[in-house]
Amino acid sequence: MTHLALRRPALAKRLLHVVAMLLLCAGSARADIGATVRELIENQRRILVLRETASLQERPEARRAGQYLFFRNQQLGRKLVQEITQSLPDAPARYQELTLAMDDASYEDEDRLVLRNPLDAVSRRMLPDERRDAQLRMERLADLRKRLGESFEASFDRTPLRPGSVNSARWKIYLGRIMTGTTARQIMEALDRELVVTTEPTIESTEAAARARVLEWNGEELPDKAVLLTFDDGPHPVHTPAILDVLKAQGVHAVFFQVGRNLGEVWRGTAVPRLNQTIVARIVLEGHAIGNHSFSHPQLTRLDEASIGREIADTQMLIDAMVPRGNARTAEFRPPYGARNDKVMAQIDAHHLRSVVWNIDSEDWADPLPASIAHRVVQEAESAGRGIILMHDIHARTVEALPALIRELRKRGFQFARWDGRRLVVDKTPENVAPP
Ligand SMILES: [Zn+2]
Repeated sequence: MTHLALRRPALAKRLLHVVAMLLLCAGSARADIGATVRELIENQRRILVLRETASLQERPEARRAGQYLFFRNQQLGRKLVQEITQSLPDAPARYQELTLAMDDASYEDEDRLVLRNPLDAVSRRMLPDERRDAQLRMERLADLRKRLGESFEASFDRTPLRPGSVNSARWKIYLGRIMTGTTARQIMEALDRELVVTTEPTIESTEAAARARVLEWNGEELPDKAVLLTFDDGPHPVHTPAILDVLKAQGVHAVFFQVGRNLGEVWRGTAVPRLNQTIVARIVLEGHAIGNHSFSHPQLTRLDEASIGREIADTQMLIDAMVPRGNARTAEFRPPYGARNDKVMAQIDAHHLRSVVWNIDSEDWADPLPASIAHRVVQEAESAGRGIILMHDIHARTVEALPALIRELRKRGFQFARWDGRRLVVDKTPENVAPP
């Protein structure tokens, strides 16, 4: 009796809670678009503050924090597109909500650059006569980026390039504004609970972890004046084909580190390729290679061994099923966010893979300006002399940065390496040697 008397209020309280939650969900369904836009913009600002204010010692951690926010923004962008386009009759009204949220007076034009990818995806799903406003907005953003990027393009004429990313006066003003009252340290501390990373080997390093560290590539293995392009987080239905077009036109080969859930799923121990199959086929056909970038892009360092193993194995099964033989097959694994510890290294080794990281970060995840991305890669390649370049085939800005980046690197005597099925090679083809 006493038990029941005690439990009843608790039950009623729980029911009330459930009802309140349901009401809250129903009420927030329409408010979601504005909240998603705000989070996208806030994350982009955090990414820029991390990049601009981190001290030399803070930089590795700031990069991982920035990449974490970048990946979060990919998910938010997809969510936004889904919210707007999931029901076609509602799409115009929901698009209106997006424009209202975008036009919020507390945002700068520069903030809105982060909305270009979602806008693009939304406009592709709209009817032609509904598409006009989205196209106009995209044109305005493209125009702004061009103006912001002009000084970067002009600076290619200087040899050597000046280090640092901020050349445009207007961009500098914007950065100054968003950097007021916040620092990289504060952002990293706020993210601390979500982001636990250790890259240093520990004393109890296992043999497998030690071996994986010795085998790991970071770009310094390449011959002098050679670079390898790598693209992570795809395949993407729109941007990966666009990247392939550029690479084909320029005669450059690359390695694509793909996320398993963009390929399909593993069901009862069997790989079920379901997504982006024609893109994978094209990557293979055009002489590029495919590497493993985990199944769901988690912080592997936070998982237990079994979960790390599953993340690696599931994607490898999908790759093995989609790329059964030939030169496109690699035994390469890129840890998400470059986050790895002994546990992760030992699992990579246990799956007979090689960890491949990078020494040249394009920061295409942090930088909305294609010209600035190209500038950074060329500058870092010049100072490192060789290297593995980290890029992402999930962004329009990466596609736009690529032609100038390839052209400039060649002009400065760099050659592009590729995976030939067994090792990295540098071809002596006419297009791979510097133009006169
Ligand atoms: Zn990634």
